Amino acid sequence: MTTCPFCGLDPYEYVDVGVGCVPVAVNCCHFGPALFDDRSEDQSWRKWAECAAEAVSGIKDKDERMAKADEILFGELEYRSWNERHDATQGTSK
Ligand SMILES: [Zn+2]
Repeated sequence: MTTCPFCGLDPYEYVDVGVGCVPVAVNCCHFGPALFDDRSEDQSWRKWAECAAEAVSGIKDKDERMAKADEILFGELEYRSWNERHDATQGTSK
C-alpha cells in the first residue's frame, strides 16, 4: 500500500474491475494529486511535492505535518506568482 507523506493515508481511490482493484484517482488530501497523479500536466508540482514531503517527513503529528506543508505551499505559490508577474513585465518591455 502506498502512503501519502502528508496525510498518512492511502492516496488512491480504488475501483473493483472484476480481476481486482485498480487505482483510479488520487483522493486523500490536497497535496496527494501533486505527488501521486501521473496525469498531472504540471510536473513541476511533483518536484515541489517531493521536496515538501521530505521537509515534513520528520513531523509525527498529522495536523502539524499538514500545517507545515500548507506553509511551504503558500511560499511556493507566492514565489510562482512573483515569477509570473516578473515574466509578464519582461515580456512587455521588449
Ligand atoms: Zn494525502
